[in-house]
Amino acid sequence: MEIKLFNTMSRKKELFKPIKKDEVGFYGCGPTVYNYAHIGNLRKYILDDLINRMFRYNHFKVNYVMNVTDVGHLSSDADSGEDKIKKQAEKEKKSAYDIARFYEDRFFEDTAKLNILKPDVTCRATEHIKEIINLIKKIEKNGYTYLSGGNLYFDVSKFKDYGKLARLKMDELKAGARIEVDKNKKNPFDFVLWFTESKFKNQEMLWESPWGIGYPGWHIECSAMSIEYLGNQFDIHTGGIDHINVHHTNEIAQSEAATGKKPWVKCWIHSEFLVADKGKMSKSSGEFLTLQILINKGYDPLDYRYFCLNTHYRKPLMFSFEALDSARNARERLNNKILEIRKNVGYSHKTKNDYSIKFKESVNDDLNLPKALAVLWKVLDDPELGDREKYDLVMDFDSVLGLGLEDLEEKTVELNEKDKKLILERETARKNKDWKKADEIRNIFIKKGYILKDTPKGVKVEKSNI
Ligand code: AMP
Ligand code: ZN
Repeated sequence: MEIKLFNTMSRKKELFKPIKKDEVGFYGCGPTVYNYAHIGNLRKYILDDLINRMFRYNHFKVNYVMNVTDVGHLSSDADSGEDKIKKQAEKEKKSAYDIARFYEDRFFEDTAKLNILKPDVTCRATEHIKEIINLIKKIEKNGYTYLSGGNLYFDVSKFKDYGKLARLKMDELKAGARIEVDKNKKNPFDFVLWFTESKFKNQEMLWESPWGIGYPGWHIECSAMSIEYLGNQFDIHTGGIDHINVHHTNEIAQSEAATGKKPWVKCWIHSEFLVADKGKMSKSSGEFLTLQILINKGYDPLDYRYFCLNTHYRKPLMFSFEALDSARNARERLNNKILEIRKNVGYSHKTKNDYSIKFKESVNDDLNLPKALAVLWKVLDDPELGDREKYDLVMDFDSVLGLGLEDLEEKTVELNEKDKKLILERETARKNKDWKKADEIRNIFIKKGYILKDTPKGVKVEKSNI
């Protein structure tokens, strides 16, 4: 069956044609590991996971590569400010490496809880300095660079199609309109390939290079590692929409300048933002929700996954706890339904239906997961289908949805007298709006491996999956 994907480069839904038959090479820009991932970041990795699962569902051999940015990402995407990891290391009084490894581990814990499959390759920038230097050397040899103020810059005026992804109109943009002006740059759009000590004296992560001791810029990391694992041209590259204007625009310029092969990437896929009351959720604003905060409030990570599946990835997703509650209720209904039909799976009742086709058409149509979820509910509500058939269809769908439906356990918990008393105490605390006490009691249950769910019919206690 054909697969259609919206390509940011053409701004159109296109028929996907792989470079190699039945194979897909796919690179997703990974996390910058200087803080916990917020749930907005995680929306983007859920999208990557859906792309990965969708291709596997279509029997493709997938090579999914994700980087970990553990050096070089400055507080502005356009080379100004401080290195994000260095800044956090100073704040936490730890080494930059300790910061990077700590937050990387937390990131992979979160993604595992969201049933995000591990990429085929994960690669850290600090472990690919040789590849980065070699790529910069090629760009330099082809005449696209200059040294200034100790840094090596990419000269965008030498690259004909600079800005084509973002449709930047270079002549209309005034210096400083998009980015802060760095005095060393010939053109405000130029960007750093290699920083030397001249930029930050106390940088802990430093390497020798032909341009002096220093460290790579953020954009070159992604070009070097994707080319290393996927070749000079590959099928798909993903990121959040904030990456279109600077990061991906610069990645294209560097990569095509180095290899001369165009287009470097065939299809660009960008995830819209998760927005909260105050606008886009961001790590730099310091106000954000992590997965752990949701867990502490009694949600299952898969409630958040379900919440994300309900909105198409190219639409902004407004976060609210009310909306998350609706997703949790829908997932609970789904789980209960599966547990119920699972009891009758011995019973076979074959009817002709086209649900499999409809489901696949939806996921293959630019990852229309809201429509795919609607197909799943139609299956469950169809009185013509037997339970065996429903169960088999839904388990098949779940290889894309990733809602862990095969591993569902009966979660009802038998409470002892002491716990029952605690629950009553919490109910009283809640009635008196003593949220502190209510949360303390909830935490006692979380530590025991239980989740407390406040439903209109009262509190429910379930075994936690986490
Ligand atoms: P970072 O770790 O800051 O490099 O960001 C990781 C990914 O999250 C990037 O692809 C960003 O584009 C994406 N991202 C950042 N903020 C949001 C948000 N509020 N909603 C969705 N994605 C986001
Ligand atoms: Zn990247």
